[in-house]
Amino acid sequence: MAIRTRFAPSPTGALHIGGARTALFSWLYAKKHHGEFLLRIEDTDRARSTEENTKIILDSLKWLGLDFDGEPISQFENAKRHAEVAHEMVKNGDAYYCYTSQAELEAMRSAAEAKGEHFRYPGTWRDKSPTEAPAGVDPVVRIKARQSGDMTVHDAVQGDVTIQNKELDDFIILRADGTPTYLLSVVVDDHDMKITHVIRGDDHLTNTFKQKLIYEAMGWKNPIFAHIPLIHGADGKKMSKRHGATGVDDYIALGILPEAMRNYLLKLGWSHGDDEIISDEHALELFDIDGIGRAPARFDLDKLRFLNAHYIKEKADDALVSLIMPVLQKHTGSELSCTARMRLLKGMPDLKDRAKDLNELAEAAAFYVEELPLPYEDKAKDILKDADKDMLSNLATLLEHLETFQADDIDALCKRMSEENDIKLKDIMMPLRAALTGRSQSPHLAKVAEVFGKDETVKRLRAVL
Ligand code: GLU
Repeated sequence: MAIRTRFAPSPTGALHIGGARTALFSWLYAKKHHGEFLLRIEDTDRARSTEENTKIILDSLKWLGLDFDGEPISQFENAKRHAEVAHEMVKNGDAYYCYTSQAELEAMRSAAEAKGEHFRYPGTWRDKSPTEAPAGVDPVVRIKARQSGDMTVHDAVQGDVTIQNKELDDFIILRADGTPTYLLSVVVDDHDMKITHVIRGDDHLTNTFKQKLIYEAMGWKNPIFAHIPLIHGADGKKMSKRHGATGVDDYIALGILPEAMRNYLLKLGWSHGDDEIISDEHALELFDIDGIGRAPARFDLDKLRFLNAHYIKEKADDALVSLIMPVLQKHTGSELSCTARMRLLKGMPDLKDRAKDLNELAEAAAFYVEELPLPYEDKAKDILKDADKDMLSNLATLLEHLETFQADDIDALCKRMSEENDIKLKDIMMPLRAALTGRSQSPHLAKVAEVFGKDETVKRLRAVL
């Protein structure tokens, strides 16, 4: 049978990185087996689901490169079908109408709590006939849960997990207003979508027992369940806003590359030897559910940035220029000129060697797009103040007469000037750097000058004289 997995986010917030990892695993599993990966938006919580969150989730998945098959499915739009299944279960004797009012339930709950007991609905209407129903009360539909014995979920990650059936009560599958509950909707949708593998966060493991009852009542085959551990912060607690960035959109803003995020999320809680860097092709080849650990994964931003630096280095120069352009345009307040973009492209091999994120890269590249007068850093101003202006003026003239304006020629010229005039090389280079970049640090300076070309180099140098 063809493998079909799905990702089923609730659009009540942005795409959490835990959700992103679940999506990645489901995607990898489907792709590896030449199956299909579907997307279902679980938008049944009408009060908290928003179009805006759905858009953020779709954008985040797109950014991550996790393409799904077909159109996204709205769970809310299937509500009628879910209700039909609930009524069918009543007809088959696997569920029943329950007329216990809210007030009666509250009274039962308080009585149980007063005795220090955990409240379980006692099945008051389980065997009553609806002819006894009070007038004017809309019933809920409750499943007939098993009252004795035990039940085991064979989970592909957690192994066999068993509970006593008496721990489950007759839970509601259809509310009094006719809307299905989450437990029912998920099962009906997974069945109708022909999902073979349900890969999701282990916070849903306990729901699985209840969902199994619905599968069995309907005579539907269970999918294979794989509950993956949640992501925890460095302190071992469930990752939340308190730990800083939690949404995929936050990491986009932090300048992380999708390939680094994929590699990082894959390695987080899934292991294949000691390999740190795992390309997409390699991941598709190696990924298997067996490799997913049971322990919660701990998020480590430094590791993500380490991988990000690797993927920035690997990425094509022109792609990086496109990625940092929006940041630089914001910085300069205008569209980048063709010249500015060419400089970025030529300077990129040296710039990308050092950056751990795209914002750092943009910040390091900014001098290529800034115009005179440059926003000189304080350190650069001090260097220029102390510099020998006659020497700089000579340097400008010599550079102007240089025949080929390549890094090697520029380096040789500075060296000659240093030797012939008994000036320390750094006393030439440091002010030259400050003049060209407005900074005290930059990539290899002669290369920077080569990128600028003769006219701009001389112009920037003369501007500080
Ligand atoms: N909508 C659920 C969530 O966002 C996922 C349910 C499932 O995967 O079965 O946590």
